Amino acid sequence: MPLGARRSRCVAEPPTPLLRRLKLLTLTAADHAGLFTLTANSHWRRNRLVILCYHGVSLADEHEWSDVHISEERLTRRLETLRELGCALLPLGEAVERLKVGELEGPSVVVTFDEGLYDFYLKAYPLLKAFDIPSTLYVPTYYSNFQRPIFDLACSYFLWRGRGRTIESGRLLPGTPRVRIPVSAAARSEMHLKMRAHVYTMGFSAVEKDQILAELAFQVGVNWDDFLDSRSLQLMSPSELSSLDPSLVDVQLHTHRHRTPRSEAMFMREVRDNVDALAAMGFARDERRHFCYPSGDADPAFFPWLEAMGIETATTCEPAYATRRTPLLNLPRVVDTMAVTDVEFRAWITGFARLLPRRRHRRYSDVELGTEVWNKLPASDAKVIPIRDHIVPQGAAGSDREVPIAHAHRHDRGSPRVSSDALTFRHREPRRADPR
Ligand SMILES: [Zn+2]
Repeated sequence: MPLGARRSRCVAEPPTPLLRRLKLLTLTAADHAGLFTLTANSHWRRNRLVILCYHGVSLADEHEWSDVHISEERLTRRLETLRELGCALLPLGEAVERLKVGELEGPSVVVTFDEGLYDFYLKAYPLLKAFDIPSTLYVPTYYSNFQRPIFDLACSYFLWRGRGRTIESGRLLPGTPRVRIPVSAAARSEMHLKMRAHVYTMGFSAVEKDQILAELAFQVGVNWDDFLDSRSLQLMSPSELSSLDPSLVDVQLHTHRHRTPRSEAMFMREVRDNVDALAAMGFARDERRHFCYPSGDADPAFFPWLEAMGIETATTCEPAYATRRTPLLNLPRVVDTMAVTDVEFRAWITGFARLLPRRRHRRYSDVELGTEVWNKLPASDAKVIPIRDHIVPQGAAGSDREVPIAHAHRHDRGSPRVSSDALTFRHREPRRADPR
């Protein structure tokens, strides 16, 4: 999200409750009138592909903290809906091949999961098995080898758990020894982003960041040992990843450290480190051909680099239907969250969603940060607008380490995207082991 002072400039309010209610009423009426069934069986929908994107499935209360974590009950209902609507549920590779030659049958859907959190293993995997639904799992491998909570996620989660409390800011914030954690989600997100920026600036190691998390957990009343034991917000271990049935779960690429440097060499290293780490777990190198942009950061500059590495498809978080003309390195995905109602989900799957007016606001959920923002879309940017991380690195410096130094207005680099105001970054030489 835009940070602090410039928020009003480019972040608009979400759609009003009244407009949203009207939309939901319209969708419900259309569904009852059989229009969803008509569009599901239409020629138009047969030539479109929906790629669904999921992140986490709650182990406890994570879906109340961040709605990109969905409850197990919600995921079950989604899979039931896909079956009930008679969807062709395809592996990604087969789906895009069929899309290109016009051989999709019925309303076709691909299911993808990002991150490879332990909750996938515990909650989603058994459901995918029970429903016999293939999926693609994009894994950033650093935290698979470093079996601790992901710093950015856990920090945001702990702040949510401790909302309203006053804590010693310690190594999280400079110059303010005691701070009250805001109750409002927007103010809390802002605090989290400042903490995150400070931690990156200080260049703390993964182990130090883990200690900082433990201190924060103590202050907000979360039992650190229990939290570690729950494996909440940790990735699957290498042995858990290796044990997944490859006919049901296709483990693919998401960069090693969940980042997208602008330097070709650094970007390629991220992907190659990711391939290497998965190869060490037994995943054949030549089958890692599918990539997912971390935080949906799909800069067209990446396309030739991915192509050169033999990557065949790459997915974004742009909610749209894929057609045979969609570039395979810019495949849209519909991010399903707790905020998506059942009727909206059915509208997307059946194809009815295409009849809805174009949205003027886009909701940005950042899985790294467990936060969200709303951006107003200029009309000229209405087509291809990949979701952006909150961080906009400046230029193409030869580093994958992005260190925030100041709040500044986003510069326009002319790429077809909408972004927010953001921190600007100076770059320093990366350390190979730097995690996100
Ligand atoms: Zn991700």
